[in-house]
Amino acid sequence: MTTDKTAPVVVAGAGAWGLSTALHLVNDGYTNVTVLDRASELPSRYSGAYDLNKIVRAEYEDPFYTDLALEAIREWRTPLFGPYYHHTGYVVATSDKAPAKAVQHLEKALSSVRDHASFKPFISSLDTPLKFKDVFWQFSGPSRFKGYVNRHAGYAHSSNAMKGIYRHLTTRGVRFVLGEAGRVSELVYSRNPRRCVGARTADGTTHQAALIIVCLGAYAAEIIPQVGTFAVAKCWSVAHVQLTEEECDFLRGIPVLNIRDLGFFFEPDPATRLFKICPLGAGYVNTSETSGISLPPLDVLPPPQDHIPLEDERKLRRLLRETFPWMAGRPFVDQKMCWFSDTSDSEYCVDFVPDTDQSVIVLAGDSGHGFSMSPFRKPEPVNNWELV
Ligand SMILES: Cc1cc2nc3c(=O)[nH]c(=O)nc-3n(C[C@H](O)[C@H](O)[C@H](O)COP(=O)(O)OP(=O)(O)OC[C@H]3O[C@@H](n4cnc5c(N)ncnc54)[C@H](O)[C@@H]3O)c2cc1C
Repeated sequence: MTTDKTAPVVVAGAGAWGLSTALHLVNDGYTNVTVLDRASELPSRYSGAYDLNKIVRAEYEDPFYTDLALEAIREWRTPLFGPYYHHTGYVVATSDKAPAKAVQHLEKALSSVRDHASFKPFISSLDTPLKFKDVFWQFSGPSRFKGYVNRHAGYAHSSNAMKGIYRHLTTRGVRFVLGEAGRVSELVYSRNPRRCVGARTADGTTHQAALIIVCLGAYAAEIIPQVGTFAVAKCWSVAHVQLTEEECDFLRGIPVLNIRDLGFFFEPDPATRLFKICPLGAGYVNTSETSGISLPPLDVLPPPQDHIPLEDERKLRRLLRETFPWMAGRPFVDQKMCWFSDTSDSEYCVDFVPDTDQSVIVLAGDSGHGFSMSPFRKPEPVNNWELV
């Protein structure tokens, strides 16, 4: 990491982690920060966080992530991030037909917070229908869920948060280059030693840099193919139901509900009256037969917003029948496949790229839980990863 804080630093990608990286750079005194993004406006439609909302929670098997999430939740409740954060609580449960694996996930999630000093006072068991009904008094379906509520958690409006941080950064002197002029086509290297000296964009410009920080989410392997050997571009379905003002008010304040064998939903958004709902499952990849690398389909960009797979729709309709049956037959709107970067163990990768003389850092492998950490401290390289 360059110690000269006036040296040019280029952040490739202005999604959740790119914006967070730029924020922490300026907070740390860096004065020459340029952010490049292929989207012509921010928040970027290509970002996995281009969405109504994302869960902010701290249930992790690894206490390292629980502690990171705890610090992030602290930051979410500060004036910069607070306008986008909703401390509604988070309910994790399983249905009465849940497979053993989903029940095990629930047990692990609970054990990660139940005895944690910071969470213990906020955890309550929801092991009877009556207790569930007390939290979700709006339920009118036959649900037989069992789980717990964690009141020290919630969700954040992700597109709005990215827009807010983007605007904040423009007032802090960060330079943004967007659209084709911001679409990184390749990194440019010098020889002996091999060092990255800049990022070339689709308009042919080379943005010189002493350090490049690559935050391209699911698209990282397009620019650094080796990332594709340990992080896979994967997508999950997202759907919404359009509510009326009264329906939206009726559901105001509900905690995030995550039924481990079905899916999850959030309190509706008062501005758009959209109720977001997502199925849980393994997700889908788009692996090239020649390279073996999965990337979002680059020929249909930005990703379309008009369908999700039938099996996911069935899961979501079942979740609605169990909880809010009056919604279960409604059309889904803004349906989309949302892309992220997944690792086999869900660990993030924040590290120097080998053989670049510490001139390139890559942030990859958000594994579907990276947005909530965005307010967290600057990325510190942990150790050099090996390319296979
Ligand atoms: C359905 C779904 C649900 C999720 N739910 C949660 C959740 O509840 N909680 C949570 O914490 N996280 C959640 N996530 C994960 C979260 O969205 C990601 O962790 C986060 O967006 C990762 O940030 P990123 O900056 O690495 O990538 P992104 O946010 O995807 O940003 C990548 C950026 O790179 C830009 N880009 C791509 N290619 C180029 C190029 N060649 N040149 C320039 N710019 C380029 C894109 O325009 C984009 O702005 C979810 C993700 C999905 C898909």
